[in-house]
Amino acid sequence: MVQVGSDVDCQEDPRPRSTAIAHSPEVRAGDVLVGGSNSAFVLPVNVCLERGSGSRVWDESGHEYIDFLLASGPLILGHAHPRVCEAVVRQLSKGSAFHALNRPALELATRLVQIPGCVEIVRFASTGTEASLHAVRLARAYTGRDKVLVFAGSYHGSHDLSIMGHRGVARAESGGVPRSAIGDTIVARFNDIGSVEDSLAIHGSSLAAVLVEPQQRSLDPLPEFLPRLARLCRSAGVVLIFDEVLTGFRLAFGGAQEYYGVEPDLVCYGKILGGGFPLSAVGGRREIMRLADPALASAPNFVHISGTLSGNPVSAVAGLATLSELEEPGVYEHLHKLGKRLRTGLARELNTYGIAGSVVGSGPVAAVEFSDPAQPGSGLVLREAVNRDLILRGVLVQLQTRFYVSLVHTEAEIDFAVDAFGAAVRAAIQRVSAIEEALAV
Ligand code: PMP
Repeated sequence: MVQVGSDVDCQEDPRPRSTAIAHSPEVRAGDVLVGGSNSAFVLPVNVCLERGSGSRVWDESGHEYIDFLLASGPLILGHAHPRVCEAVVRQLSKGSAFHALNRPALELATRLVQIPGCVEIVRFASTGTEASLHAVRLARAYTGRDKVLVFAGSYHGSHDLSIMGHRGVARAESGGVPRSAIGDTIVARFNDIGSVEDSLAIHGSSLAAVLVEPQQRSLDPLPEFLPRLARLCRSAGVVLIFDEVLTGFRLAFGGAQEYYGVEPDLVCYGKILGGGFPLSAVGGRREIMRLADPALASAPNFVHISGTLSGNPVSAVAGLATLSELEEPGVYEHLHKLGKRLRTGLARELNTYGIAGSVVGSGPVAAVEFSDPAQPGSGLVLREAVNRDLILRGVLVQLQTRFYVSLVHTEAEIDFAVDAFGAAVRAAIQRVSAIEEALAV
């Protein structure tokens, strides 16, 4: 049996709600970090992580977790992979940042353009947010149009296009998004090609791009959705952008382009590309990408894409080491097998306890949807309760997003996570019935 997690009654978290910061026990995270967090996505238990190795992480109090968060996805080789560490240490002694052209970035770009698909040439950035923002800007400059079509429920990072839409109407999911950005955003429904056709019929001539996650969140596209989307974009002169920040090097080495066999015009990479260090890229057809060439700086549709640390050599060597491991034979078969084992197990537990919901995802990803489709949002309380309990049982995961599986997770660890999930669901149900009984007395 895998020995992880804290030896505690899972109903009560004995840890302080606000994690003390190392070396400054009097400082609480919420005093110095907004929301006590590094992100808008927060874990339901405060953990302050100290170290990671392989599939495991340890918090400052010494609790050990099997890590299915994997830094929100980049660490497909697990933590502190020896080849990545060795490459990074070697590069650090030669210099950590240049801004100028450097050999590791050049080598990584060469690997990217060798991937079958639309990527003929690339430009690096540091985050997935930047990659999708730059792709949209390129599409606008190329077409001379302003509007962008996104799909309800998609995610493309922290810029203004994180307008996820609600029942087909553009609605900002964040404060501070200008009305003009909302006005330029058209929202269609993923897997509903009719909703794209309708939008094109109205906005086609002013639409610069369709920005899509080819696997939206963890939902697979229906078989004909992406090919038809590509055909529609081509005939309307609209740039098709695959946001592969999540799917790139995860569903297959060639990402969603390879996995679903569809070629867009532009692709955004992030997460795995930097092997756990900040790195992203936008790439695609030379005809569009060339608009970012500084030689065209005086042209009216020149696209400014820049970043101090873009193409950083430390990130690039970490990415190169990661890609080399992923190119070994059998890697994707293994990742898919582990992912399937996890999804099957989680679905079985949902079924055992009669929970309305489903498990989606393909490849090394599993996402649990708790809600009853007839009652949107109905499963949120249950999800949070189960997530909290899972973490206390030693399984670090963010159920709001997904389980990420790495090459170093073992089948025993997957089974441990599934058992912990079942136990967490059972405990959550018992708690709800106890409350109901108490209220009835
Ligand atoms: N696009 C997609 C599909 C993503 O999943 C994410 C991050 N989860 C982003 C863009 C944004 O990437 P980053 O957090 O690196 O800015």
